[in-house]
Amino acid sequence: MSYLFLSHRIDKDTPGFGGISDFNLKVVKNLSEGASCNVSRIEMSMHLGTHVDAPFHFCESGETVDEIEANQWVFRKIAFVRLKDVLANSIIDHGSWCEELPHDLDLLLLKTGFEELRGSSLYWQQNPGLSPALGDWLRVNRPTLRALGFDFISASSFTNRKLGRLAHRAFLEHDKSKGRPILLMEDLHLKDLHDEPIEVIGLPLRVFKADGAPMTIIAKIGVSSDFSCDDTCASRKPAGEEKKSETYR
Ligand SMILES: [Zn+2]
Repeated sequence: MSYLFLSHRIDKDTPGFGGISDFNLKVVKNLSEGASCNVSRIEMSMHLGTHVDAPFHFCESGETVDEIEANQWVFRKIAFVRLKDVLANSIIDHGSWCEELPHDLDLLLLKTGFEELRGSSLYWQQNPGLSPALGDWLRVNRPTLRALGFDFISASSFTNRKLGRLAHRAFLEHDKSKGRPILLMEDLHLKDLHDEPIEVIGLPLRVFKADGAPMTIIAKIGVSSDFSCDDTCASRKPAGEEKKSETYR
């Protein structure tokens, strides 16, 4: 049993949506320069690096990050889905793999392997996105689902931002007829995750009235017989056995 980070470290090279990497760490006090201690300050978008989109991001009446209760950030019914053949600029839609998702899940992790491109500008220029239909389907058919996390930079494909805005709304908008909104956890570090975690704890920086926030996410891993599948969900695999990641183009 051990823990893995599912969040990336933040630094000046952290890729941002649209190519905007605005992380700035400034040293305010420096021991090596005779100050009494080391102190630094940061400046960055709430949507840079591994972060959560709260409902307020796309909905005026939606919850802000700080309004979401502590127990909502702890997940124990996790579906870990490896999607193969997710090409650059593609839109991940509702498909047969959704039907196989457990009915009581609280977190869905989608591993596409697109993270392999994180050191390249292709990571934000050609990222896959989510379809609005996927959000609609999950909210109605898996009402216990509280969050969706994935290993690409945004639910909005950069080359199809109009659809991306609709997708964000489909997941986040307050709409009683659709069930609870689903938080979006973007730009996750899933490369080292090979099987479904036993537990995931993802904590955002709890900023007042925030529409989104950087997150530190850890996953408890070990021997488990919970749900895990590839995109066909044809087989359940023993821990550690994973398909080789595809090449992205
Ligand atoms: Zn965001």
